[in-house]
Amino acid sequence: MAELGFTVDNAKSARSLCRHCDEYIDKKALRIGKFVKNFYDEDDEGWGDLTYWHHAVCMFKAFDQDKPKDKKIKSPDDMYCFNQLNQEDKKTILKLINDANVKWDNLFRQFRCLCAKLSDEDTGAGKTAIVSDFLKKGNAGTGFKGDVYLLMKFLLPGVVKTVYNLNDKDLIKLFSQIFGTNLKAMEEDLEQGDVSETVRVCFDKSKTVTPLKKSVLTLQEADDLLTSLSQVTKESEQYKILTKIVARCTSNDLMMVVRLITHDLGINAKAKYILRGLHPDAYKAFQVSQNLKDVVERVQSNTLHSMAGMKKKEKTDKKTGHDHSKSEGAKQGISGSSDSVDVGVSKKKTPVKRPTEDEGQTTPSKKCKTAPSASPSMSNIFTDCKIFLPETTDKFKELKQYIIDFDGEVLDETSKGSATHIVSSKGKISTSGSKAKVVTPDWLWQSIKKKQLASTEEFKP
Ligand SMILES: [Zn+2]
Repeated sequence: MAELGFTVDNAKSARSLCRHCDEYIDKKALRIGKFVKNFYDEDDEGWGDLTYWHHAVCMFKAFDQDKPKDKKIKSPDDMYCFNQLNQEDKKTILKLINDANVKWDNLFRQFRCLCAKLSDEDTGAGKTAIVSDFLKKGNAGTGFKGDVYLLMKFLLPGVVKTVYNLNDKDLIKLFSQIFGTNLKAMEEDLEQGDVSETVRVCFDKSKTVTPLKKSVLTLQEADDLLTSLSQVTKESEQYKILTKIVARCTSNDLMMVVRLITHDLGINAKAKYILRGLHPDAYKAFQVSQNLKDVVERVQSNTLHSMAGMKKKEKTDKKTGHDHSKSEGAKQGISGSSDSVDVGVSKKKTPVKRPTEDEGQTTPSKKCKTAPSASPSMSNIFTDCKIFLPETTDKFKELKQYIIDFDGEVLDETSKGSATHIVSSKGKISTSGSKAKVVTPDWLWQSIKKKQLASTEEFKP
């Protein structure tokens, strides 16, 4: 197999056939050849690769039908002979590449992969590095070209909140109608605790609707559909929109859409760690403005520090002395201004892996579910608190979400030893020599209510 997967030239004759549209390629027309292993060379005698020619435009159309793991052209370096093209043809190819990269970065599947990675990472700094790395690289390795605002909005469903007028039971009822699945069976499945997982499983088994095999949903499309879902309250209208959503989803897509509706991605990440992946100061800026769109735009145009309430810094890049112009920053998405993003942390991380195939893809394991009904604030009530909260605690999910939203950490049984606070609703417990303070659930509620830590003395079990 050739080292690079592709070559480009102007057709020498009109004899080559486009492998995508089956039309002959005109003489001198811009064409891209994809090297394919010569399958007639059964004994591997080195017959060389076959070249499958495509119209340049058709080559990129073909990529859309390929599997995520298949080789694609993501930069001019991925093909031979690019430098021998004339200027106009070079421009054509560069535009095709850029358009494709924008499209690929905007795929909902990429967002899903990012969530899976975030879910697997336990530390906040690690999560920040993953987001930063994702934005710095994008699918082509040269920077995320998709819609950064939408990506961040989706990553923070509990913070940038869209209200859907749908609880778990409503969702199950509507999906059981769409899937033609027995409502009782779905409700029983739901008792295992995760509505998104129930929906995914039942979608796969549905006899009336079939999940897409390949994920084609984009961030924009998902956002449009979810926005229209949030604008209706009648069951019949919700049914209509959910049916539309289902028709555009693989079962993994739909699971993630449900998680967006329920405001919990299962990535167990505090807003500050996600936002710091956008820019080290993005969290602070968001606390000041509470306006994610504004923060993203400022990061992209490198004007975060001119924001009221933020410290001023030099706008000029010290290394190069260049001033990032606004339009350039915007055009390049985050890549132009991400030099200052936490490089030290992200360098340690391995690059974001592309999904090998949609079906085999991992999805984030669900760790928490319900978002609090009160509007989330960016207050830091529980900063530095590592709270062991038993799952048997009344309103466990709600409390857990509050603790995370208010900057605390929720520990499970395995990391209980490092807790600063242990919640007990069952009276006094032995902490076997740990320094953790034992408190009742009311300590959490009181702290949340007062927006500051309540005295642990008052809430001893
Ligand atoms: Zn063609």
